[in-house]
Order: sequence, then structure tokens, then C-alpha cells
Amino acid sequence: MSVTFAPHDEAFRQDVRSFIAENYPAELRVANPETDLTKEQSLLWHRILFRAGRLAPHWPKEYGGPGWTTVQQYIWDQETALAGTLPPLAFSVTMVGPVIYTFGNAVQKARFLPRILSGDDWWCQGYSEREAGSDLASLKCKAVRDGDHYIVNGHKIWTTLAQHADWIFCLVRTDVSAKPQRGISFLLIDMTTPGITVRPIITIDGSHEINEIFFEDVRVPAENLIGEENKGWDYAKFLLGNERTSMAGTGHARRALAELKSVAAQERAGGAPLLADADFARQVARTEIDLAALEFTELRMISALSAGRDPGAGASLLKIRGTEVRQRIAELTHRAIGSYGMVLRHELALGHNEPAPGPDYGHTATERYLNTRKLSIYGGSNEIQRNIIAKAVLGL
Ligand SMILES: Cc1cc2nc3c(=O)[nH]c(=O)nc-3n(C[C@H](O)[C@H](O)[C@H](O)COP(=O)(O)OP(=O)(O)OC[C@H]3O[C@@H](n4cnc5c(N)ncnc54)[C@H](O)[C@@H]3O)c2cc1C
Repeated sequence: MSVTFAPHDEAFRQDVRSFIAENYPAELRVANPETDLTKEQSLLWHRILFRAGRLAPHWPKEYGGPGWTTVQQYIWDQETALAGTLPPLAFSVTMVGPVIYTFGNAVQKARFLPRILSGDDWWCQGYSEREAGSDLASLKCKAVRDGDHYIVNGHKIWTTLAQHADWIFCLVRTDVSAKPQRGISFLLIDMTTPGITVRPIITIDGSHEINEIFFEDVRVPAENLIGEENKGWDYAKFLLGNERTSMAGTGHARRALAELKSVAAQERAGGAPLLADADFARQVARTEIDLAALEFTELRMISALSAGRDPGAGASLLKIRGTEVRQRIAELTHRAIGSYGMVLRHELALGHNEPAPGPDYGHTATERYLNTRKLSIYGGSNEIQRNIIAKAVLGL
């Protein structure tokens, strides 16, 4: 297998690097972009990419994608991640956009797609409920048809960045008597509709990233139904496949690994750099080998996709291994920093007489470590991905 890229792809890579260097706003380089930036700041890069026609690499050209090949899309994803740029909002661009252009009608495409690209609409994902996470098909949030509206009642939870959202795409139950998967519909709901309440959930790292949402007699125009009533499960699965494929995060892992090595070269153990400690170096090397193996697996899938083959349950494999590697890098970085990594920024913000002890890179280590716990839970937990592989690949 050859892993060299064609000269025109290498030229594309150089173009991507120059574009990022010339256009990425410095103000977006903060410790935790998901929670340290305002809504407007979060959209800055999104809008720059939109104006440059580089926003939605995976979208077909007719809907506003740049018309790149699968390899160019891969290079774009790698280079933007390696450069540490803020990804465009996944719920809009990676998740609901493809559902709308694949299953939506002409009116829905014309109404929603341009506003996703321009960043005028911020979307959030209303799948999970208290008793419906891994067992998503048991969801209870109900939509009852009333003339040309649906009346929605129920509750969603773990809704990422719903505090900024203009719209939510929701899985709702429209037939309580059918088998669980058969009675679900995919509904687009305007977050300003009366009857919607968003309540923050503060996570273990002290950040406000996720929310609970309550729906009380919320009137939703029936024209906001995607595809057919009670066929929502098919659209939901299509979306989850896209979500998982985008979760390998190898570019992010490469960047984090370089940071880990830099920290371990500065920190000392027994009078020498920690990176020279045989046991620590072995663990870093082990992680780097796993990452390299994952990168090759990803390239194999890119190659299959380029040839028009569906990677199938491969999305689950990428999700499991990608998130495990990223969590291990976060753990090793935290260990490398040692007790200085115990500082919590949100506690520092409460006011202290003394500056925080230890190097600056230590002040976000605990937050990052805690925040990366989520990677193996969201998008369908890693245990569930293993079940999918057991069934779909191993036939167990
Ligand atoms: C930071 C974060 C952001 C999120 N954002 C969103 C969002 O924007 N929108 C949204 O809809 N959801 C979101 N989620 C929810 C996420 O999809 C669910 O948390 C996830 O699907 C797991 O569901 P659960 O939390 O109900 O856990 P449960 O389903 O209760 O599972 C609990 C544990 O049991 C294990 N388990 C469950 N069933 C099985 C089984 N059959 N076999 C083996 N093990 C099993 C699970 O792996 C897990 O470890 C988010 C979650 C997190 C952590």
C-alpha cells in the first residue's frame, strides 16, 4: 500500500496551510474554545470559511460544498485539526445539513441549507432523554398531530450548546403503539417557539457545555417534519453514521501528542526530563504507535470511500480507537504535569491573592483531562460501538 499523496494533493495541502496561517483569527486561540468563546466568536471562523467557499467539505457542490475529492476532504480535516482551528459547528454542518439535503424536500433545502452555511442558524441535537441514551429507540418525547401543526411535549437532555441554538433537530415519538423504532419522527423545531425551556447542566470540569430542554405544548408547523412521519429512525441512523465517522480525531490526537511531548520534555523526573524516563517514554511510544495504526486504518477507509465503497461498521471502529487514544494522551499529559495540574481555572476565577502555581500549561490540564471523559460517551458510547462491531462485523 502506498501512503504517499499525489503531487496535486500535496499542493492542496500547502494551500490549506497557507489559508489557515493567513486567515485564522488569533482571538480564537483560547484554552477551551467550546466554553471560553462567545457565540459570535465561535462563529468567526465559520463565517470566514463560508466566505471563502471552504465551509462544508463533505457536502455535494450543488448544496454549497467546495467539490473536493475524498482525499482533499481528508487533508482538509487533518490540516485544520493539526493547526488547532475551531471546527465549524458539527450539529449544523456535519449532522443536520446532510439529513436535510438527503431526506428533506425542496422547500426545506432552500430554507435551511443557506442559513447553515452562512452561520445564521445555530443547530443543536435533541436525541437523548433521561431514559433514552444508549437505548435511544425508547425515547418518549411526544409529538401529536393537530391540524397543520405537531404539539410537542417532553424532555431532552445532554444537549450540547443549546444555550446558543436557534434551532433543534429532534427525535419525537409520533406513534406510541408501533414498535419503538417505527414510531419515531425527525422534527425541526425553532428554539424561540413558546413552551421551550433550556436549563444548564454544569459538568465535572466546571463548564457549561450541555443542557436539559423541556417542551410544554410546543406548536411546531408540520412542514418542519423531515421525510415521512414514523420513518425518523432511518434518518437518525444516517446522521449517527456521519457523526461517528467524523470522530476519529486523528489530527486532534497528533496535535495533543506533540503538546504531551513538549510538556514531558520540560517537566523533570529524577533530575532528567520526564520524556527520558524509560517507563514514561514507553507509554508515550505505545500511544504514538496506536495513533499511527489508527491513521492507517482511517486511510484505508478513505481509500474505500474514494472507490465508492461504504465503510459500514468501520465508523464504530474509528470512534472507539480515536477516542481511546485521545483520552490516553490527556491522561499522560495530566500525569506529566503532576500536582501543578490540579489547579482548576474556574476556581482561580473566583479570586486568589497569589498567582497560580506552576507553568501556564498546567492550569488547563485537569479541565482537559475531565472534559475528554465525554469522548467515549457521546455519539453513542464505546460499549455500544463494540456491540455494533460484534453484530455487524463478527456476526455474534
Ligand atoms: C458531553 C456530552 C455531550 C452530549 N451531547 C449530546 C447532544 O448534543 N445531544 C444528544 O442528543 N445527546 C448528547 N449526549 C448524550 C449521549 O449521546 C449519551 O450520553 C450516550 O448516548 C449514552 O447514553 P446515557 O448517558 O443515557 O447512558 P446509558 O445509556 O444509561 O449508559 C450507561 C452506561 O451503560 C453502558 N451500556 C448501556 N447499554 C449497554 C449495552 N447494551 N451494552 C453494553 N453497555 C451498555 C453505556 O456504555 C454506559 O457506559 C451527550 C453526552 C455527553 C457526555
